[in-house]
Amino acid sequence: MASFLTATVLAAHGPVYVVLWFDTEDYIEPAADDAALRIAADLDKLGVRATFKVVGEKARVLESRGRTDVIRALGRHDIGYHSNFHSVQPTPALYLRGMGWLDGAAEFERRERPGVEDVRRIFGITPSCYGQPGSSWGPQTFRALLRLGIPVYLDEGEQVGVGEQPFWFGGMLNVFNMGRYQLRASLNDESTLPEALEKFDHAAEELEAKGGGVISIYYHPTEFVTTAFWDLNFAKGANPERNEWKKPPRRTAEESERCYRILTRYVEHAKARPSVRFVTARELPLLYESQLGRAVDRASIARHLAGQETFLVADNGALSPAEMLQILLGMEPAAVEGPIARGATTYHFGEISRPAFERAKADASGFIRTNRRLPAEVWIGSQKLSLADFAATLADDDGSAKGIAVRKGNLEMEKYVATDARRSFDWPIHPEGFSAPELLELARLQAWTLKPARLK
Ligand SMILES: [Zn+2]
Repeated sequence: MASFLTATVLAAHGPVYVVLWFDTEDYIEPAADDAALRIAADLDKLGVRATFKVVGEKARVLESRGRTDVIRALGRHDIGYHSNFHSVQPTPALYLRGMGWLDGAAEFERRERPGVEDVRRIFGITPSCYGQPGSSWGPQTFRALLRLGIPVYLDEGEQVGVGEQPFWFGGMLNVFNMGRYQLRASLNDESTLPEALEKFDHAAEELEAKGGGVISIYYHPTEFVTTAFWDLNFAKGANPERNEWKKPPRRTAEESERCYRILTRYVEHAKARPSVRFVTARELPLLYESQLGRAVDRASIARHLAGQETFLVADNGALSPAEMLQILLGMEPAAVEGPIARGATTYHFGEISRPAFERAKADASGFIRTNRRLPAEVWIGSQKLSLADFAATLADDDGSAKGIAVRKGNLEMEKYVATDARRSFDWPIHPEGFSAPELLELARLQAWTLKPARLK
């Protein structure tokens, strides 16, 4: 009984980290500048630091309008990045859909590096995180973002997710697809605030009981001063010239005050909870165990991967399929990319001889070490095994048999990637009926890098 009580009391104190973020993107309506300033100041008074994900063009516009007051106020909080032009066509998913892993990443970097550099120059700091405009998500962005020095993906969407909590994917720490832990109080109806507070408490209680977790809350400064989004100028793929851009409809001053009041009350309520700590995107990686998992014994990994190719959560750490594959190959696991294509098995014998299999293992290790990426397929002489079949065969190999039985892979990791390519990319700014199954397929290949993130 005593130990049960102790456990309950301990569990009740599991830390609840709240990431409060603002997509700071409206470069058309100047009142949105004042909204960002007001929000930053209100949060200062509450002693809460938020993350402002700034659009490149927004940063430039703040600079050209002489809003050093806004730049300084946001700079006291954390600064993330939210694309260079947000909704100006073509948005990322549009141009990435027709591209592969490497060319897509290079194209995203070409288009986005100037925006990252402007945000860095204007705010004096490298953005801590990135999140896509709307639902214009693409897996190639992860490779580019790491090259741009951005380690955290902070946004909402349904393309990929694990257990409604942060996860590792594409080498980045993701706060994404947070389900019931993605919360907000409606700015439009103050009478629903008590309900929103209750919902927050319920989510916090659940996380406390689980020993801790993250709640993600987001707004846009522009929402506090307008009644429709600024970027409807670009709806359904529209491409108007700058002088044709229309300002969004404004809220009255009274309505705006209500919005600020709701945010303040919501944040106050959250902050009053003993387990809650507000954290910025920059602090997140410090709260989580580093990406490279701690040692799990080889036999457990082999058993796991032979049955199901997906991440492994053990007592002392979590491993991605890519990490486990490297361990089975006798390598020190490093952060690597998933394959760039879906390989197919052409090897048509039931067994592989020991020398041929050992050569294939050495070849796969060499590829991974050189490219820091998994191969799509592994050659056995003039024929090949898909990566999935190779991994399953390797996991099932006892290391001594003369002939190694070929096994079929079971890519269970792919179930964490969305399958509805229309719904996942649904956004008023995308051309009507837009869907991007190609991007979900690329995401499935990168699921080799997927695993839940674990709080320290
Ligand atoms: Zn946005």
